[in-house]
Amino acid sequence: MGIRLWTNPSAEAARAAPAPAAVGPDIAATTDTAAARERASTEAAVAVALAPAPAPVPSAGAAAPARPAAPVRPASAPPSRPAPSNPARAATPAPASEPAQPALSDAELAERAATIATLAWAPLREAVAACTACGLCESRKQTVFGVGHPQAEWMIVGEAPGEQEDIAGEPFVGQAGKLLDQMLRALGLSRTDEPSTGREVRADARGVGDRPVDAEGDPARRVFIANTLKCRPPRNRNPEPDELARCEPFLRRQVELVRPRVILLMGRYAVKTLLKSDEAIGRLRGRLHRYEGIPVIVTYHPAYLLRNLPDKAKAWEDLCFAAATMAALRDKA
Ligand code: SF4
Repeated sequence: MGIRLWTNPSAEAARAAPAPAAVGPDIAATTDTAAARERASTEAAVAVALAPAPAPVPSAGAAAPARPAAPVRPASAPPSRPAPSNPARAATPAPASEPAQPALSDAELAERAATIATLAWAPLREAVAACTACGLCESRKQTVFGVGHPQAEWMIVGEAPGEQEDIAGEPFVGQAGKLLDQMLRALGLSRTDEPSTGREVRADARGVGDRPVDAEGDPARRVFIANTLKCRPPRNRNPEPDELARCEPFLRRQVELVRPRVILLMGRYAVKTLLKSDEAIGRLRGRLHRYEGIPVIVTYHPAYLLRNLPDKAKAWEDLCFAAATMAALRDKA
């Protein structure tokens, strides 16, 4: 039943979709059929898109930066608290009492990025947990490092932790997290190796040495999920450009360590950080982008989809595009 949410994503069908726990084992077969149909229709486009397979050359409108010799300054970024055009987050202006964090210089950002770029998993996790590089450290309950297989072939990048993520220390929990799990299940993927006990596994997945304990299972059917920002902005306000700049090296290093085959970007700030683009999600989706040579597909954030049910049809198209992209990559390997 759950797959109808994606194969026939009308608002009525979406409302009728069950919670992930009610999704039965027939999902994979149904999904495979749907994915096969979609793959047939998108295979040619994917083959063309993948054919050049250039090294780290970004697609149009998507500037994939080289290694961070000089981290990007947010000089050309939009206003610090943009109008509520971000579909995934309900922007709440920061009060005047919120302390301003002095901007780091280019040299300071470069030094910080160079240090983080050397860290293995365990010290990276520790560095995030102890980070006080921006003012968000003042109001967070805990940092949200990320979950999943450390060598997953899929990587999901969201935006910033919300209230429930801040409490749980895990990205994509609550209703948006359930929807993401449904989306992953539609692709035959999981954030955990043991879906039935996933929450407990994730809560304990703090890692041993440089090898997280969650490194079980088939990396081809696992994902690693990370947020662009590791700390919750107060009242879920939009991230400041300087906060994104200070936190970006952590995400960059996570991508380097995971080395995913495909990255799925969910939401405006994930796009802004990795693709350096301010274009709307609607204009970026349906095309193959690249980050450091890794194919990137843009789609809507699950929190946005919960408020805009008709756009689940577009999200399903994006998932099919992602599946076709992965299939084409595997065929080439
Ligand atoms: Fe550090 Fe990122 Fe948290 Fe800011 S949001 S304190 S840069 S971990």
